[in-house]
Amino acid sequence: MTDLCVSGCTVAFGGLKAINDLTLTIPSGAITGLIGPNGSGKSTFCNMVSGQIPPSGGRVRLGEKDITGWRSDQAVAAGLARTYQVPRVPKELTIGEVIGVPFRYARSSRELPRQMSTTADLARFCGLAPALDTACADLSISDLRRLEIARALACKPRVLLLDEAMAGLSLEDTAQVIELVREVHAAGITIVVIEHVMRIIATLCQHAVVLNNGRLLSQGTPEVVLRDPAVREAYLGK
Ligand code: ADP
Ligand code: MG
Repeated sequence: MTDLCVSGCTVAFGGLKAINDLTLTIPSGAITGLIGPNGSGKSTFCNMVSGQIPPSGGRVRLGEKDITGWRSDQAVAAGLARTYQVPRVPKELTIGEVIGVPFRYARSSRELPRQMSTTADLARFCGLAPALDTACADLSISDLRRLEIARALACKPRVLLLDEAMAGLSLEDTAQVIELVREVHAAGITIVVIEHVMRIIATLCQHAVVLNNGRLLSQGTPEVVLRDPAVREAYLGK
């Protein structure tokens, strides 16, 4: 079964097609790694499917719903949540507010498991040590990344997109976030992990898709994809 599917989608910035007639499917219930060299269109893919930048052509489907051109809040209500490569958290708010507001107003029909059933539970589940009344301005990058995941989970998603959620973290923090992603997956949420560290894709994902110049370059199991000569060439720039 497919949870997220784009077909024939294009996003252009002036003359540059950041997403170029892209067709790909994200299998339901898996952790899929979305990889590709810098500038290959990974973040634009996230922006496109989550309603920040509508595609100029093609369709985006989430489960049974055609969500092409839907606003971000509509995509979230349909069950698609995301985090940002550069954390976007209002500095003047507290941890409790950033998680609590979407949690309270989430329009998704899904329910979260018991260990995520309150704002405090979600913060704990995501490994956020600071108190709920801590201002976001005072958080480390590691806590900001955990907070972004907690905020996305508060939207009760069926599909969660993580745009480089481990970038800038220490090895220890990275290992903890990997474990967190596994636990989120075990809670029944389909996950797309955007990552450029191949080791993380190989250990975490059941499926991988590779973008290059806004197009699908390769897809399959991480083992197959990482051995694909076309993928090696794109990364090494031969
Ligand atoms: P990735 O996340 O894979 O590194 P991006 O999706 O951020 O790649 O970018 C893909 C291409 O689109 C790059 O060439 C980038 O410079 C360009 N791009 C991304 N966002 C914008 C934008 N808002 N305006 C103009 N060009 C953009
Ligand atoms: Mg990016």
